[in-house]
Amino acid sequence: MPLTLTRDVLLKERTTLRLGGPALAEAVVTCEAGLDELARALPGLGGLPLALGAGSNILAGDGPHKLVLVRAANDAEPDVSAQPGGPDGKTILVRAGAGLRLPRLLGLCQHAGLTGLESLTGVPGSIGGSVAMNAGSYGVELGALLTRVRVWTPEGGLVWREATDCAFGYRHFNPEVTAGFWLVWEAEFALSAETPTAVRQRMETVYEKKKTSQPVTAKSAGCVFKNPEGAPAGMGAGRLLDEAGVKGKRLGGMAFSTVHANFLVNEGGGTAAEALELLEYGRAAVFDRFGLDLETEVKVLP
Ligand SMILES: Cc1cc2nc3c(=O)[nH]c(=O)nc-3n(C[C@H](O)[C@H](O)[C@H](O)COP(=O)(O)OP(=O)(O)OC[C@H]3O[C@@H](n4cnc5c(N)ncnc54)[C@H](O)[C@@H]3O)c2cc1C
Repeated sequence: MPLTLTRDVLLKERTTLRLGGPALAEAVVTCEAGLDELARALPGLGGLPLALGAGSNILAGDGPHKLVLVRAANDAEPDVSAQPGGPDGKTILVRAGAGLRLPRLLGLCQHAGLTGLESLTGVPGSIGGSVAMNAGSYGVELGALLTRVRVWTPEGGLVWREATDCAFGYRHFNPEVTAGFWLVWEAEFALSAETPTAVRQRMETVYEKKKTSQPVTAKSAGCVFKNPEGAPAGMGAGRLLDEAGVKGKRLGGMAFSTVHANFLVNEGGGTAAEALELLEYGRAAVFDRFGLDLETEVKVLP
């Protein structure tokens, strides 16, 4: 089926924080023909479109939401091709669908001996959501590896955008095609050849580091706040929250993790109302202690 439409979909079933009330509808698109169908169907669905990937960076309100969740489900094995250039004379271009999960892409890179993405080990997002967030880890941002991106809009259909024509920032990406709705449909990354063993070792090192410093198996959305500009050296949002006494703070079923203070976790039966109250508590505590304003990294759907 190119396009599958479902009414009344619960966001708590689509997000890793397991929070969120019902959205009006969900549109799952598997191929380009499905995008054409979606363009025709959207006006009749009665809600604003919202691109949704793996839901690993979303805090959705208890709802209801007048939204149509648009999900790219193009998750076939990526196309891999070599071309001259890069530090060792050969760049490997990897073209992946937005619906492919980043962990799956990393697994394929490991087997094929492709290096570049290892720092993102443990990031559970889809390719589409990870590009849209310019996901980054241990100094590597996805945008730095992106060569071009294929973006869909209901008005203009699919277009390729060179990375140099897009805007990137800290957890920010904009393909600059429209002020309205856009969907990342495919992305192409420039990677390099390496031995599978060396790639695996780097991934293992990153994952070991994350396992000891982050609640990797908890129901979370990763870091909820961005690291603020102007903070003292070495003071990321997690450290600021920790020193402001927020680590482990609970409300109902929600809590700031005892492992990493910038991870809000759903310990079971948590609500978005509790999560939002805790976010405000954390923000106020850091402001009172350090005079710094924390900006949310997690996308809040009120
Ligand atoms: C345990 C854990 C660890 C994490 N670690 C990291 C980390 O180290 N670094 C990091 O940067 N993030 C991290 N995250 C957050 C999250 O995984 C990333 O932001 C991820 O890349 C988001 O991808 P997603 O598919 O889940 O996007 P979603 O959460 O579904 O959406 C996020 C945003 O992207 C938009 N979006 C989604 N898909 C598309 C699309 N196809 N086209 C256009 N817009 C789209 C959504 O509208 C929303 O604004 C972590 C999360 C968890 C749960």
